[in-house]
Amino acid sequence: MHHIDIELIEMTLDVMKYVIGRVSATEHQIGKPKKAEELKAIVGETVTPKGVGGEYAFNLWKEHLAKTNVPVDHPRNLAFVPASPTKAAIMFDLITSASSIHGAYWMEGAGGIFCENEAMKWIVSLTGLPEGAFGVFTSGGTAANLSAIVTAREHWRENPEFKREKGLIITSLGAHSSIKSMAKVADVDILLVDSEEHLTGDALKETIATLTEHQRKCLFAVVATGGTTNAGIIDNLDSIAEVCEAENLWFHVDAAYGGGALVADSVRHLFKGIEKADSITIDPHKWMFSPYDCGAVIYKNMELAKNAHSQQGSYLEIFKDEGAHGFNPTDYQIQLTRRVRGLPLWFSLATHGTDRYKEAVERGLELAQIAGRLIEAHPDLELVREPSLSCVLYRRIGWEPEDYTHWTYENHDKGFALVTPTKWKNGDTYETCSRFCFINPDTTEKDIKLILETMV
Ligand SMILES: *Cc1c(COP(=O)(O)O)cnc(C)c1O
Repeated sequence: MHHIDIELIEMTLDVMKYVIGRVSATEHQIGKPKKAEELKAIVGETVTPKGVGGEYAFNLWKEHLAKTNVPVDHPRNLAFVPASPTKAAIMFDLITSASSIHGAYWMEGAGGIFCENEAMKWIVSLTGLPEGAFGVFTSGGTAANLSAIVTAREHWRENPEFKREKGLIITSLGAHSSIKSMAKVADVDILLVDSEEHLTGDALKETIATLTEHQRKCLFAVVATGGTTNAGIIDNLDSIAEVCEAENLWFHVDAAYGGGALVADSVRHLFKGIEKADSITIDPHKWMFSPYDCGAVIYKNMELAKNAHSQQGSYLEIFKDEGAHGFNPTDYQIQLTRRVRGLPLWFSLATHGTDRYKEAVERGLELAQIAGRLIEAHPDLELVREPSLSCVLYRRIGWEPEDYTHWTYENHDKGFALVTPTKWKNGDTYETCSRFCFINPDTTEKDIKLILETMV
């Protein structure tokens, strides 16, 4: 028997009030981290045999703990790749939690997976991949890259000649750290083309020509980047695709950050060749305005992913018949039990329409151009390179690396902005510089001006 639980209703209302306050606020605080010992001293024991009570714990969250986070959707948080989930997506993230959907198999999660797939169809349509290509939502770009590398490697190893070989992949210095990490997880060797500027088919060919006979035998995949995390650089996908085809190599495009820009007419041509990929990573939690976490891996040939990832177990057999039931997301990536993390994206797309996504991404691109002009007009500032996608690398003339660090901490401590330094490879040396990455369409020109004004 269910009874009406007044405490539960009160807690629900408190939570809703907090959420409404969070998503409707126009000025957020940029939180300041505290050391774990400091937080412990403030908060005390919270996990106890009897519990401290929801109201008490929630107050600790509101008063102390929440304030030590740096929300990624702050308009002056331009560090790393920030994010800016839509309110519709955030609201449906709550519904995703409340619905307790086990998103591995259609038999249990039909409605949720149907919605995910509607959103996925749109993402796949942006890539221009041929009929039959499809994808699944993952926990992020790292899991998507791993799922793709493992699929490629397993496919390669179907050939008995390679069964006992350790595979090799080629990527560039600009590739994301997760490619190197996931190559370790998959136990494949990795070779980096030594340039942070865009990788070309010619550079790839030259690199392949330097391989030993055994290395060439073990080379099975190339990872190109569709928008490097550091500088927004898109590799020359078309010419890389050609080389991959001629050399019979798997062509993976990591567009975890840049993939959102496929929707933007002004830059879509820069991704030419992505439609020839064997697999693609795109993170909706970066430039498709989804809450954390939501990545996606897309395959030209879904069967190859299924051969690599479908889990076997007597307790799973009932679920596995896709003919009888429907699409099983677990079969195409590394995870079994999974949140239907594409569901918030679906609701947001359905609410706003894809044109709004186009406008919001174009605004991020425009903000990078605006920042570029402001930097060029400033006597003490210089662009390190032209803005690429929504990334801007620039230097404060005369600053040493520690000046950038100091400046970052100062703006962070004031709760004003989070803009972090990075390094750019210039010939054989690395230069420390400052970096903007624009995602949030609510960032204003004034925000950029105010930040630049603090670089005195
Ligand atoms: C962010 C990023 C990743 C990693 O994605 P996560 O969602 O953080 O796991 C991979 N590749 C690129 C290009 C990225 O920008």
